[in-house]
Amino acid sequence: MSLIVQKFGGTSVSNIDRIRKVALIIKQEIDNGNMSVVVVSAMSGVTNNLVSLAKQLGAFEGDEEYDAIVSSGEQITAGLVAQSLKELGIRSRSFTAWQLPIVTDDSFGKANIKSINTYALKEYVKNGGVPVITGFQGVCDGARVTTFGRGGSDMTAVAISAALGAEICDIYTDVSGVFTADPMIVPNAKIINSIDYTDMLEMSYSGAKVLQSRAVEYAINNDVIMRVKSSFINGEGSIIGHFETKSVVGLALSDNLERISVFFDNEDHFNKIVEFFNENMIKFDISVKTDSYMTIFVNKDELHNITESLQYSGLVRKIEYLTRMNNEPQLSKITIIGHKTPELVEQVELTLQSVNIKARNISQFRTKVIVWVESCCDKIALNAIHNFCIINGND
Ligand code: ADP
Ligand code: ASP
Ligand code: MG
Repeated sequence: MSLIVQKFGGTSVSNIDRIRKVALIIKQEIDNGNMSVVVVSAMSGVTNNLVSLAKQLGAFEGDEEYDAIVSSGEQITAGLVAQSLKELGIRSRSFTAWQLPIVTDDSFGKANIKSINTYALKEYVKNGGVPVITGFQGVCDGARVTTFGRGGSDMTAVAISAALGAEICDIYTDVSGVFTADPMIVPNAKIINSIDYTDMLEMSYSGAKVLQSRAVEYAINNDVIMRVKSSFINGEGSIIGHFETKSVVGLALSDNLERISVFFDNEDHFNKIVEFFNENMIKFDISVKTDSYMTIFVNKDELHNITESLQYSGLVRKIEYLTRMNNEPQLSKITIIGHKTPELVEQVELTLQSVNIKARNISQFRTKVIVWVESCCDKIALNAIHNFCIINGND
């Protein structure tokens, strides 16, 4: 008898029919003689709507009320899933994260887990029940609800798995596993049966939203084996653990990036700004750095948050919105992850030329290559590079 954590994402619980399907998946695990602890996200579209409502009233990531608002979707799903399990004759109840509690620091919008009290969960499971926990959130010492950043139910699932010593952390979603590129953009992407933690982290960090990068990091630090599976069709899914990397593993896309210049007074302030970005898990790429300013690329959806927080930090003298000021096109970043051949960069250039796309820049690192293109043609570029690197096997 194994204890398994089963996490269901937004599309897996998007309506009552889907929730009933989820209950059957959980029942299957119970019928197999296992114990299940369930983590759920909000129904698809709900969190986006809550974020939009919060922003209309000026509440952004980092504000206490932002977390109070955007965390509410998961409570609905937890209740519905528990109710649908009861419909099948399975003992079940919902647990909000604060009821356990999952205790975090007070970094609203990107909280870090400090501890998880597993007593109630263990008792409930021991007595044959299936607890259904709200993902994406915790509670800080000040008794306020905190959230873990978008996609943060993955983080709850991994943290609960670690705290309970679960056999595996199953992440159920709308695709059958981790693919060599986003299968919604690259139709001939291939499923990856087993993927090494560090490659998965790079994929997630570079834009593959199938798993939240913080969750993968947590899994690495706590030796949690993850498996990504579809809640729509049966299949083995993809295992994330310790595996050997031999060649190009996959490609990830990070789109709609805008260029801003951040002016500062001295090197000390520059270092503190970088520290600030890292602490706040803000993804950025530096394109120019001088004694008094740096030009960086950030996602357009995060621009407001980033510039607000920077101005508030008192570390910056001025911010210039270069993409907007100069009417420049937004750029996208395609990351090729895994071990590369020496010719790869040249071959990528030729591949892009064959579809009439000019790379804005290509940079090489030990286990990845980053290709910059204009966002308007990023999907064509991604498909072309994927065909070359993965489908034609030129890795
Ligand atoms: P959930 O709501 O279940 O958490 P997400 O939308 O967060 O689901 O993640 C699943 C989505 O991730 C897929 O629909 C797919 O479009 C996207 N995705 C991006 N890159 C990949 C990849 N390499 N493999 C699989 N899915 C990917
Ligand atoms: N509902 C949250 C979000 O949409 C958390 C999650 O889906 O993992 O970001
Ligand atoms: Mg997700």
